Amino acid sequence: MLQPPHSSLQVAAVPAQRVPVRDRDQDAPWHTEAVCRRDEAGLFFAPSKEPTAARLSREEAAKRVCARCPVMVECREHALLQPEPYGVWGGLTAAERRVVLARRRRRDIELKKAARVERIPQAG
Ligand code: SF4
Repeated sequence: MLQPPHSSLQVAAVPAQRVPVRDRDQDAPWHTEAVCRRDEAGLFFAPSKEPTAARLSREEAAKRVCARCPVMVECREHALLQPEPYGVWGGLTAAERRVVLARRRRRDIELKKAARVERIPQAG
């Protein structure tokens, strides 16, 4: 079983097909400094059928842990690049990461359009 930095009893509660794939950089230096390596409180992943109010409260608590984590930037980029579909990573929920990724995609499209316009020879 793959072990996240915030290796948690809660992860075991996530159905097998929903367990994030984090093993690829298990030995990455940032992993060793993760504040959440032992997530006894199960803050980072939702238990099944979690009520909305409980989810919001849990996610805010997880974000407070992330806020004091020395590897938050590395963790966040990892979660965006994989991308990790579940859990709080780098201070962002899965929904927040989807927003960031959508913004990046739009930015990339705009940059490609701009590059194409620059390559079009000017008439006259
Ligand atoms: S930023 Fe948050 S999720 Fe990422 S390693 Fe640190 S505490 Fe864990």
